[in-house]
Amino acid sequence: MKAAVLTGPASIDSRPLEIRDIPVPTPAPSQVLLRVRACGVCRTDLHIVEGELKPLRDRVIPGHQIVGEVVAGDLPRGSRFGVTWMAGIDGTCEFCRRGEENLCDSPAFTGYTVDGGYAEFAVARSDFAIPLPAGLDDLEAAPLLCAGVIGFRSLRVAGVQRGERVGLFGFGASAHLALPVLRAWGCRIYVSTRGATHRNLAESLGADWVGSERDRPPVRLDRAITFAPSGDVVVAALASLRKGGVVAINAIHLDRIPEFDYDSLLWGERQIRSVANVTRADARDFVELASEIGLRPKVTVFRLEQANEAMLALKNDAIDGAAVLVP
Ligand SMILES: [Zn+2]
Ligand SMILES: [Zn+2]
Repeated sequence: MKAAVLTGPASIDSRPLEIRDIPVPTPAPSQVLLRVRACGVCRTDLHIVEGELKPLRDRVIPGHQIVGEVVAGDLPRGSRFGVTWMAGIDGTCEFCRRGEENLCDSPAFTGYTVDGGYAEFAVARSDFAIPLPAGLDDLEAAPLLCAGVIGFRSLRVAGVQRGERVGLFGFGASAHLALPVLRAWGCRIYVSTRGATHRNLAESLGADWVGSERDRPPVRLDRAITFAPSGDVVVAALASLRKGGVVAINAIHLDRIPEFDYDSLLWGERQIRSVANVTRADARDFVELASEIGLRPKVTVFRLEQANEAMLALKNDAIDGAAVLVP
């Protein structure tokens, strides 16, 4: 099969992904072999390819937003499934036993610790394959499987209820897929973000208020989700919150959390929570909801052979919508 293989991380400018012909993998018991129909390109893939996430294997096939069709294994042949960043868990650690699988101490990650979907075929754990509703086509489903699901989990972590006032601080891939969910829930949506392009997109998607990263929403928010890797943004979100409100941080790293005033910003049972990985339930529920509400991400298609070009375009913010590779 054809696959985009990373043998050593390097700047994407040097085209580190090699398009190779390699054997089709054999699924182990309790795995499925999928014929890849589409695979989304995520910023995390770029971090893996460029080595910001340290390499854990000599060679790896990136890609963790896989839409594939079962060709072998213990799920029905021909049926369509999605594969996310969460490739598996140990099932035995304290967190798995508590039912908090997103916090597992030794998870496997698709396209990082196990091979991913920048290929014609991929294997996945059958119990981590996410059934995809027929209402989503391959290209629309792929970008939902990372940015979309984590955005959805952020809404859950923030405890968003129907009709509430919700702030989105930063407006990239994840936020723009969360916004239609908030609309479907009848929420009032307040977006603070840098960049006129992002502000225009938020407006066109139906945000009730849009401002720059320095503007404060005109109301007290019930919930806020921050998407920027900046502690200042977290404090700005906190400053916009009503008593009892929650800020959910959708960022793996923050530069720092600046010192802030407890009495005015956190007292009153305000909460700050981080968002880590996703559960299978998040993924299943989100793709169902996306199909129901007609969430249609904008995509730009690249051929598998153009994996380097797709990532370069992502790095240069030269893509309208999400990049998706098609073998
Ligand atoms: Zn575990
Ligand atoms: Zn991702």
